[in-house]
Amino acid sequence: MSQLSQARAAVTAARRPAVLTGAGMSAESGVPTFRDALTGLWERFDPAALASPQGWASDPALVWGWYRWRAAAVRRAEPNPGHLAVAAWGRRVPLQLITQNVDDLHERAGSEVLTHLHGSLFDYRCARCGEPVQVPDPDPSILAGDGEPEQPPRHDCGGLVRPAVVWFGELLPEGAMESASAAVDAADLLLVIGTSGVVYPAAGLADLAHACGVPVIEVNPDPTGRGLALRGTAAELLPALLA
Ligand code: NAD
Repeated sequence: MSQLSQARAAVTAARRPAVLTGAGMSAESGVPTFRDALTGLWERFDPAALASPQGWASDPALVWGWYRWRAAAVRRAEPNPGHLAVAAWGRRVPLQLITQNVDDLHERAGSEVLTHLHGSLFDYRCARCGEPVQVPDPDPSILAGDGEPEQPPRHDCGGLVRPAVVWFGELLPEGAMESASAAVDAADLLLVIGTSGVVYPAAGLADLAHACGVPVIEVNPDPTGRGLALRGTAAELLPALLA
């Protein structure tokens, strides 16, 4: 039996699957992963340094400009056939979808997301007092540039407004890891799509699945060895796997 047939049999038999997605899920929607070559301005910067409290502290305008550019780019992107296949599977079985992605492409494909472990590009909060802040979408014309530095707005308390995403070295939103772990623990299959598995604690969910005896299937052109490996992209493989 081929890897794909084996995986399809496991998908067909699953009654309470969990799905963990990473940046590779959205790559074919034109949203670059952190490990893709970056363009323009961002070629010169390390995303891990921009997506960090240290990066924010040293140059908030640089980080704000980068995030506003990314938010505009995601607004322009569309869900790919992989997102649509996951959403269709979720209409057939009670699927628990956990994502590390800060985009909204699963939701726009029609999925209900259990938790965004790393927050959302479209939520903001005060960096000083933590209060959530509404910020209008960036003007799409921002995409004509490379994401120029831009001064972040100020909250009423005087603090700077920052994206409500989880930066390297920060804690996950309260309860996010608990609900994700409970979903994996209760699952009879974990499908891991497009994640390099190097960003913890999210990467620990596949380890948890192994510890709980939950079978793992991985979809990735460059599999990490975290389960039955299907070598290929999300948009190519998921429609065949989940049909
Ligand atoms: P990553 O950048 O570390 O790894 C991406 C993984 O996706 C790699 O293993 C790569 O082989 C795989 N991949 C590349 N193209 C693929 C495709 N077409 N189909 C399937 N897999 C593909 O991403 P990560 O593991 O999610 O960790 C980085 C962090 O960066 C995440 O926590 C996430 O919050 C953040 N991030 C999010 C987005 C987004 O929201 N779309 C984009 C970039 C980074």
